[in-house]
Amino acid sequence: PVRTRFAPSPTGFLHLGGARTALFAWAFARHHGGTFVLRIEDTDLERSTPEAVEAILQGMAWLGLDADEGPFYQMQRMDRYREVVAQMLEAGTAYRCYSTPEEVEAMREAARAAGRKPRYDGTWRPEPGKTLPAVPEGRQPVIRFKNPLEGVTAWNDLVKGPISIDNGELDDLIIARPDGTPTYNFCVVVDDWDMRITHVLRGDDHVNNTPRQINILRALGGELPEYGHVPMILGPDGEKLSKRHGAVNLMEYDVQGYLPEAMVNYLARLGWSHGDDELFTRAQLVEWFDTRSLSKSASQWDPKKLNWVNAHYIKQADDAWLANHVSPRVAALGGDPQAVDLVAVIGLLKDRAETLAQLAEGALLFCGPAREAPAELVAQHLTEDARAALRDFAAQAAAGDWTREALSAALKAVMAARGLKMPQVAIPLRVAVTGQTQTPAIDAVLAILGRDVVLARLGKI
Ligand code: GLU
Repeated sequence: PVRTRFAPSPTGFLHLGGARTALFAWAFARHHGGTFVLRIEDTDLERSTPEAVEAILQGMAWLGLDADEGPFYQMQRMDRYREVVAQMLEAGTAYRCYSTPEEVEAMREAARAAGRKPRYDGTWRPEPGKTLPAVPEGRQPVIRFKNPLEGVTAWNDLVKGPISIDNGELDDLIIARPDGTPTYNFCVVVDDWDMRITHVLRGDDHVNNTPRQINILRALGGELPEYGHVPMILGPDGEKLSKRHGAVNLMEYDVQGYLPEAMVNYLARLGWSHGDDELFTRAQLVEWFDTRSLSKSASQWDPKKLNWVNAHYIKQADDAWLANHVSPRVAALGGDPQAVDLVAVIGLLKDRAETLAQLAEGALLFCGPAREAPAELVAQHLTEDARAALRDFAAQAAAGDWTREALSAALKAVMAARGLKMPQVAIPLRVAVTGQTQTPAIDAVLAILGRDVVLARLGKI
């Protein structure tokens, strides 16, 4: 059975790259009816924070990436790592190394000087028939993994294809520090082993760790998972995606009014494809997801396309659902969402909105503080003739039903009687009622604003 994991280090917010990796691992597990594990890699005590853990959990909940197991915390598994270190020492697949950091630096320097790759020289590496130096008194050793010296370590990467590294290129990795704490690569291996992970999907910044992890896992007698390394996300200018390109914090997109379903769709399509499909549901993603269709090259973040995808999901969303989500945003902007039929407002605005923030902005026209038209607009549009036409319209509208259809009919009657074209009435009407020259269809705007508000504002011209 397929078991995947997402293994973030909680050193900051959940960024877009991490969110996408999580999404791929989740989709792969769901596609295969497998298990998705969440593991928090919090062993870097200086950089890990509880706030970052919270941010990761929140981001995953927002995207709807539900873990079947976890969150597991590496800091809670220290005993287990120490146990495995002890087992490896016992089995001879790891050894104590008493070289000081200064000595190791000197070895590396010597190798560099001889034109070889800088590395630990194996002083403390036990070999049959080799006599090790005397243990220096009072010195705590590091524990090193006894990496194979010969042969190659190879795997068929699910994304990048066959990769192989000469074992001679790999150092004897330190798996535990002098104080006994295990190191990063070692914890990952023990966890992937214990958690019976079958497929590791992660960022390709980890490609260099993979041969080291494979060798340790082999030494432990564990079964190797498949590895797939996903290329990174670049900004529109081809540089590594960073703050300069806008928000890189996933949850910032929630603040800006992107829908999680849109984000899932956009992130999935960023580096994965299913034919020419740009829009697909979460269920389709799960149904179609495969690692063969993961892109081998880096993807580019495209804010315009994200907006287009988000606009699609807004258009599709239920008006009442949208109104619920837009209501607090309207209030935060100083509007009164109770003062208007917000569902009707959403119905009018949603076809042109790219974000919930834009919807809220648009809704202020209906339930924000009344906007006085600037004097230039009044002078330009509310001429004597225009005022006369608006008074005429007010009288006709007041006499009829307050529906979009009736208001539209009243407008047309005024135009016909006075020989005016639509903009000659509609623009003064907009200025008089909303203080601006552009609004959605004016009959719809008037219908939603309501009889009292509209007639009061027209009464003032
Ligand atoms: N903790 C690592 C990171 O956040 C991921 C490790 C892994 O997926 O193997 O970059």
